Amino acid sequence: MKYPIAKPYINKREKQLVLEVLDSGNLSLGPKHKEFEEKFAQKIGTKYACSVSSGTAGLHLAMIAAGIKEGDEVITSPFSFIASSNAVLYVGAKPVFVDIDPTTYNIDVTKIEKKITKKTKAILVVHIFGQATDMDSVLKIAKKYKLKIIEDACESIMAKYDSKNVGTFGESAVFAFYPNKQMTTGEGGMIVTNNKKIYEICCSLKNQGRSPNMQWLDHKYLGYNYRMDEMSAALGIAQLEKLDFMIKERQKICITYNKYFGKYSDLVQIPQVSEDNIHTWFVYVLLIKNKKIKRDEVIKDLYKIEVATKPYLPSIHLFDFYKKIFKYKRGDFPVSESVSDSAIALPLYIGLKEGDIMEIAKKVIEVIKKHDKRI
Ligand SMILES: *Cc1c(COP(=O)(O)O)cnc(C)c1O
Repeated sequence: MKYPIAKPYINKREKQLVLEVLDSGNLSLGPKHKEFEEKFAQKIGTKYACSVSSGTAGLHLAMIAAGIKEGDEVITSPFSFIASSNAVLYVGAKPVFVDIDPTTYNIDVTKIEKKITKKTKAILVVHIFGQATDMDSVLKIAKKYKLKIIEDACESIMAKYDSKNVGTFGESAVFAFYPNKQMTTGEGGMIVTNNKKIYEICCSLKNQGRSPNMQWLDHKYLGYNYRMDEMSAALGIAQLEKLDFMIKERQKICITYNKYFGKYSDLVQIPQVSEDNIHTWFVYVLLIKNKKIKRDEVIKDLYKIEVATKPYLPSIHLFDFYKKIFKYKRGDFPVSESVSDSAIALPLYIGLKEGDIMEIAKKVIEVIKKHDKRI
């Protein structure tokens, strides 16, 4: 594939730090994950950071630490990667979906209050694609109804709302470092918080429920093995050093895409960035305007000419087991469904040159035009 959809940006520094770990023989529970945690907390601007084995693991622990349990309801977005609402299911609670805003694709804050019941305990905010949710409104609602806020910031590291980093608004927030994210540790994630208790619970739960002062085989809670290993942490330290650069590069690529696709507003809708937001571009997603065009056919045609694209993202409420458990059906969240049906994510990674971006953009428009004419 000439143009894959994503690619990690790894060079000498990552190799050097990972090799140091391998040479040290200290492959888990060593100094690197502590160093990574400290540097990460400092970068985001929270008191604490707790490294975990994935973003999904982090969301699971954030739910437990928040005290969410069977019978509770958690308000969240159906337009997300499935891990966010699965975390609610893991603790036996019910994800209550609220439709999304048609311009930012984040939760529609004007529709949250209608979904609040006596059982509602928290709002799980998902900052989608690299852009922050309207946190002013979420904070107001949470305060009024005494709800906790947990942030799924897995797609939006360093994104800002009103000059404040995502991850600093909630009781806790979770970041993820899968290789397609803005920075990677292979597999990995991070829980951040300003609350010492939450931090200590997460640290214990990821390590089989041990307390920090306990012996190896002593356990206080029902825990898990959600630890990040030292090689991943070393990779994370090197990636963190170049995070600002990597985000700037992504922003440049997306501006170039925007300039090109902006000329075809009859065919596609380009991503919209809200005022006061800084977008950090996990993915670059276009909406195909003509709803009769079969988006999946467009993806297939682009694949044939070496441009990888993806239908980002399907709506969670329409996955089989969600339909089965909660009786969700098509039409329940029309904005989310409409975005899901027409969204197409384009190649986005460091190393794409101006010429590459132009070539990809031209091909995308050619293929969409071809399908548009057929209708
Ligand atoms: C990537 C991602 C996660 C976590 O994914 P992992 O693969 O478990 O690290 C969670 N939520 C969202 C919205 C994501 O995009």
